[in-house]
Amino acid sequence: MSPHSSTVAGIGEPPEQAEFRAAARAFLAANAQPKRDVSPWEIHFHTSADDAREAFERGRAWQRTMFEHGFAGLTYPTALGGRGGSAWHERIYAEEAANWDVSSRFIASTISMLGPTLMKHATPDQQAHYVPRLLSGEYAFCQLFSEPGAGSDLAGLATRAVGDGDEFVVSGQKVWNSAAQFCNWGMLLVRTDPDVPKHRGITFLLVDMSSPGIEVRPLVQATGASEFNEVFLNEVRVPVANVIGEINGGWAPARTVLSNESAFIGSSPSVGAIGKLRILADRAGRSADPIVRQRLADVHTREWLLRVMGARIMAAVRQRQPPPMDPSILKLFVAGNRVRSGNLAVELGGLGAVTGDDEISQWIQAELLGRFSISIGGGTNEVQKNNLSERALGLPKEYRNDHELPWKDVPRG
Ligand SMILES: Cc1cc2nc3c(=O)[nH]c(=O)nc-3n(C[C@H](O)[C@H](O)[C@H](O)COP(=O)(O)OP(=O)(O)OC[C@H]3O[C@@H](n4cnc5c(N)ncnc54)[C@H](O)[C@@H]3O)c2cc1C
Repeated sequence: MSPHSSTVAGIGEPPEQAEFRAAARAFLAANAQPKRDVSPWEIHFHTSADDAREAFERGRAWQRTMFEHGFAGLTYPTALGGRGGSAWHERIYAEEAANWDVSSRFIASTISMLGPTLMKHATPDQQAHYVPRLLSGEYAFCQLFSEPGAGSDLAGLATRAVGDGDEFVVSGQKVWNSAAQFCNWGMLLVRTDPDVPKHRGITFLLVDMSSPGIEVRPLVQATGASEFNEVFLNEVRVPVANVIGEINGGWAPARTVLSNESAFIGSSPSVGAIGKLRILADRAGRSADPIVRQRLADVHTREWLLRVMGARIMAAVRQRQPPPMDPSILKLFVAGNRVRSGNLAVELGGLGAVTGDDEISQWIQAELLGRFSISIGGGTNEVQKNNLSERALGLPKEYRNDHELPWKDVPRG
């Protein structure tokens, strides 16, 4: 029986779905702790390197457990380690898992980004090798995209790969690579042809992070933890067999990764703040204040809309259909919500909450600070607005002077 007594999920369900729901409940009951036993204020905010590693490995272990019991990759083919299910399997599992303290954390984000990319752009042999290892967490992939000179303008990247027989020799630098110090594989964008315009000379590689020549340097944040890294590549040899998509055609799989990243960030269940804001309003004796009530209703409505949009996009992604709306809208929406909920949390918590070190204060601080990372990672708000205006609304494109120039002739600072 689910620990969530108020759930109506499952009423009137067809037998096949009811059977799957019962199996998911039994699996969760046997392997996880009910959420009600865990503090609602728990935050994923690491204060040391050990803390970050421990959280990463805990997420990876949970992914392995799901895989071993047939609950990882519910819509992936059984031949690739999945369950061969439909969107309803994902929906039912998500409804049940919401009652339990379970998360694959970082691994979930890479599966969301790389899984659909492999299904769309990889060869059958590559799928047979990488997809089961991705779904089990055996291969944990970091994203080696951004560079000191290529963030928003990702297609301007400069890390070079030169062919040498059946290998590429890669040299360059990446930055802001989340969890790269814990991952054993990386998805890497490299420049393979500098003589053509920037989007046309990029190749997408999968790289074993233990390859000689890779150095990962954690970047220490103000919190004391290192969630990001610089990654230096010095004549790293990567087999040509690790190219996903076409040589010089890496922009297509990169776009698939980025659009799934936006969808994942937007539909992540960790973005809901309304329950805690209501508790804060009660504690502050302001639940009857009409202005506070209006702002709570605003956060509630926006979080609900986000959940519905996220569910629609993720259902399409899992069915390998084009998303029903541009994922940039989700990313922008979640960043905007974070500002509203963070402001309200600080106002309800009072000034003491901004400096306190009890768990509620720490949650409020994380809510306040989280607005910055969420509006940058996976593409900044400004870039998402450009995407929306150009891709979704068909507005005139931003002026660019480097689209037809060979990459090597584009002036760089
Ligand atoms: C939490 C987090 C996690 C991340 N994880 C990873 C990761 O795992 N792997 C990885 O490769 N990268 C990662 N990144 C890097 C992220 O993708 C980049 O920070 C982001 O793309 C912005 O690039 P930049 O930092 O170089 O800023 P810049 O591109 O230099 O932008 C600077 C400012 O200029 C604005 N700007 C730039 N171009 C335009 C334009 N055309 N129109 C209007 N405004 C513009 C931007 O919006 C921004 O405000 C992460 C970043 C964060 C914050």
